Amino acid sequence: MSAPSAPRAIRRLDEGTVQRIAAGEVVERPASVVKELVENAVDAGARDVRVRLEGGGLELIAVEDDGAGIAGGDLPLAVERHATSKLERVEDLAAIATLGFRGEALASIAAVSRLRLLSRVAGAPAASGISVVAGQVVGTFVEGRAPGTTVEVRDLFFNTPARRKFLHAPAAEQLEVLAMVERLYLARPAVGLAVDNERGELARYPPVRSLREAAGRVFGPEFLGQSFAVAARPAEGIAIQAVLARPAISRSTSSSLFLALNGRAIASRPLAQAVRIAYADHLPRTRHPVGAIHLEVDPSRVDVNVHPTKREVRIAHERDLADELRRAVREALLGTPQVADRAGAVGRPTGFLPPAPSSPVGPLPPLAALPRAAEESPHAVQRTLGEPPAPVTVAATARRPRLAFVGQLFRVYWAAESGEDLLLVDQHAASERAIFTALRRDGRLAHQELVDPLRFELTPRQALTLSTHGEAIARSGFRAAPFGGNVVRIEAVPSYRGRRARAEAFPGLLDELAVGGRPTVPDGLAERTDATLACHSAVRAGDLLLAEELARIVEALDADPEGAYTCPHGRPILVRIPRARIDRWFLRSGP
Ligand code: ADP
Ligand code: MG
Repeated sequence: MSAPSAPRAIRRLDEGTVQRIAAGEVVERPASVVKELVENAVDAGARDVRVRLEGGGLELIAVEDDGAGIAGGDLPLAVERHATSKLERVEDLAAIATLGFRGEALASIAAVSRLRLLSRVAGAPAASGISVVAGQVVGTFVEGRAPGTTVEVRDLFFNTPARRKFLHAPAAEQLEVLAMVERLYLARPAVGLAVDNERGELARYPPVRSLREAAGRVFGPEFLGQSFAVAARPAEGIAIQAVLARPAISRSTSSSLFLALNGRAIASRPLAQAVRIAYADHLPRTRHPVGAIHLEVDPSRVDVNVHPTKREVRIAHERDLADELRRAVREALLGTPQVADRAGAVGRPTGFLPPAPSSPVGPLPPLAALPRAAEESPHAVQRTLGEPPAPVTVAATARRPRLAFVGQLFRVYWAAESGEDLLLVDQHAASERAIFTALRRDGRLAHQELVDPLRFELTPRQALTLSTHGEAIARSGFRAAPFGGNVVRIEAVPSYRGRRARAEAFPGLLDELAVGGRPTVPDGLAERTDATLACHSAVRAGDLLLAEELARIVEALDADPEGAYTCPHGRPILVRIPRARIDRWFLRSGP
């Protein structure tokens, strides 16, 4: 990377090098423009970068940096295709140290917008600029500016209506820009990033020294309280550093796991999968880990020249790297207690025993090892001898016989007798389905005012999601009042059949709504939003639930015209185990 004081000359790549560069479109939407412009600033050694948006980036994207700048005479070359200061010889492609190298981004952006490029190198009396319309340089100018570069992109795709059609509404594009800025920041926390829109500063990510600090800015204080660190040098030329959330914080998609390889934000299915596997028995199959990972490997092992936006890269021995990553995450995870309360105190370290080593079903303990009734407290004996309370029941319907709840298991499932079957009910899935159905039917959930409103400090993206998805959030029953800065006060929470949702679910709801991202696309989205709302209003695994409450939920499910015994995400609500099967386990031939 060049030092801010010494910009390198821009040169045209020779034909042979051009032929070897992965071709393809780099500009799709404002977020991809922001990515290219911010990466250019980072390559120029900038420490502070400011992104300005108007109309969600559809009217204006401006990126301003304090980097090395571009010499006045080089400005026209900067917007020319295959002209770059970052690659000299074709051999340099083998080990690229800069984020860019193709010399195409500015040219591609300039071709589909009205662009102004303004730059001042150290020592120059003023900044020089060029105006470019649809790829043609139409003017030059001189302006006052501190050393550094500003690129202004107006009216993206004004001359290519077919591509403009694929853009979303400004609010959604703005959210995607913010998500992109988070990715870039987590890849290079030493470079500060700020985002402004018409109304003022939307987000500020100051330059920080540690990944942990950066992750705290992006994921919020709740994440930090639940996070653990990974630091490993598992092999020659590999360094792994990560800040990840304990299983108590997870998401329904994998988009909240950020990966950077040698300072470049990347997407990699094998690596993400490796992290997922490290969490395997601590997260339900439908949940994904949250956090940020930095990988450093020898640059000669990485080929970034396989994808036009360099989002995907090729890594030699990627399997080995994935294995090392899985192992490092797993070790760090197992060394950490699972539950910490909001004050950071460590709670029960349950569920963190490593899985049994070899045989899937261990031998039964010898009888003598089982506790005998006499060893239990007299009180316990008393209780087992006492009259059991009458089970809570739900009347039979056309689809199933009468249910009698026997008890709650692991604070997640309920066991019920149902005719000649044992039913296991997942309390979260059942509650989620019932709430989803009510939401689809009534359009909104009931709410309950909180006597003791809870305050949350939102991350910039959560705050933006709150203002973008206000309508959906109002339907959910959550009510959040601004409380200065990005702090909100939760004044009301969803309530379903007398049980209210936990206010703590609110930031997670915002995160998941942001992933959905597109409040204006109607089809399928409304349903997905409702599923998200239902999920965050539902009873959780780990909540104590009364049998009576579950009985009312099951009655609501029975009344569901669609009659699905699956949650809105498709997971089963109940599993039936025929009594005959249980009898067989115990070598009984019949009842
Ligand atoms: P690449 O980044 O692949 O070289 P770009 O089209 O993004 O291609 O940029 C072309 C050239 O313009 C870069 O090589 C660099 O010399 C110069 N440039 C672009 N943006 C900046 C910036 N913010 N600061 C300094 N130089 C820049
Ligand atoms: Mg570039």
